[in-house]
Amino acid sequence: MAQEKQLAWDLYHSYESIKEKSLENRRFKHSDIVPLIEQLQNKNGFKVDKVGKSIEGRDIYLISLGTGKTKVFLWSQMHGDEPTATAAIFDMINLFLDDNAFPELKKILLSNLSIYIIPMVNPDGAEEFQRRNIVEIDLNRDVIRQQTTEAKILKNVFDSLKADFGFNLHDQGRDYSTGNTFNPASISFLAPSPDYEKSITAPREKAMKLIGNMVNVLNEFIPGHIGKYTDEYEPRAFGDNFTKWGTGVVLLASGGWRGDREKQFLRKINYIAILSALNCLANSSYVNTDLSIYESIPQNEKFMMDFILRNLMLKRNDKEYIIDVGINFEEVNFNGARDFYLKASIEDVGDLSVFSGYDEIDLSGYVLEPGKTKPEAYNSLDEIEKIDPVKLYIEGYTNIQLSNGDFKGDHSYLPFNIILNEKDNPENSIKPDDAANFIIRKNDVVKYVVVNGFLIDIEKVNDWNGNTIVYAR
Ligand SMILES: [Zn+2]
Repeated sequence: MAQEKQLAWDLYHSYESIKEKSLENRRFKHSDIVPLIEQLQNKNGFKVDKVGKSIEGRDIYLISLGTGKTKVFLWSQMHGDEPTATAAIFDMINLFLDDNAFPELKKILLSNLSIYIIPMVNPDGAEEFQRRNIVEIDLNRDVIRQQTTEAKILKNVFDSLKADFGFNLHDQGRDYSTGNTFNPASISFLAPSPDYEKSITAPREKAMKLIGNMVNVLNEFIPGHIGKYTDEYEPRAFGDNFTKWGTGVVLLASGGWRGDREKQFLRKINYIAILSALNCLANSSYVNTDLSIYESIPQNEKFMMDFILRNLMLKRNDKEYIIDVGINFEEVNFNGARDFYLKASIEDVGDLSVFSGYDEIDLSGYVLEPGKTKPEAYNSLDEIEKIDPVKLYIEGYTNIQLSNGDFKGDHSYLPFNIILNEKDNPENSIKPDDAANFIIRKNDVVKYVVVNGFLIDIEKVNDWNGNTIVYAR
């Protein structure tokens, strides 16, 4: 184990010089990875095959390397908006391309393993940064019916390889926590069940042991942030069926990490996790790993929220209530799904003490009220640019109206929401599913506002770097 941990730390410390620098965030596309794949033709023992085209005609590639007896098949991004492992795979490919990097590790891997990789199973979904493919079918519920060309390709490659091990690489929602620990489930594992009885067949047991090694390694970096996905059998999913058909499948899903919405830290953790696992497979060190490690991974729960405001006072009909307000942000794609803005809504109100926020603030002694819409409309963008937001907030407003509707787009970087059409006014209330716009006072003086879920200290409005919503488009 000491050797495995040392390798992981070496990978960690050398990562910046090895990682694929052209992939900078989560919204890269098929066209961004094609050159990275094409350059591998006949290089450093790589083999590149086109194994089919997506429904929209994008090539799906199978990258192969190594000459060893144990076959390992990795596939990523069957869900288009789950790219963290894809980026990590290109980091790993860079390691194989760099003659000076980890020569001994690579010798062990390439002589003991044959590695096969499909780095973006769902390129059409990636283009839109959406989970499903372009005809809105979830590939991971299509292994039986085989309606989508992408699912057929994945199944055909699986059948042609009959791999000993499979790595089923996903992302998962930021709302997952490791049990009730107040930590995000930053990496979750599963050795999927091959049947409703959740039988521990030989391939599944091997996957469980291998996950045990991966957990031991990742505990060096993200202790308390490793969760386990539910092992309920899903007869339509790839991992469950591949396990049934004799492959030891490791499902690895990247969740949330505080301060890392773009998941670049978790990408690095993926890189370490995958290379560590390959090393364990190459030297068979997982064989004697105790199953209790896998069994003791806490179950994924959903106790995370993006932002929690704690202990606010709400006044209703002369009565006072102490409440927490939990806010979640939805990412809305724009610019050809290359960019996104955030749209906040209230997730829950009341006693949220069992939940944990990626961000939290204790506002004991502060009074909460809904942000209102200023009734008098503005007539031009020029007028809006001149608004003093602090004056607006002191009057209780977080939203303004613009009477001429020539505002482009559905969001802005001004510190208030813009309403183009009165009927699209957001609810001025504080209840689940409503927009998150609040005025927060202490001793009747406005101290903070929340605009589209972003907290603004009114003495530091210029520090604001969120986005707001333009209603009615
Ligand atoms: Zn997924």
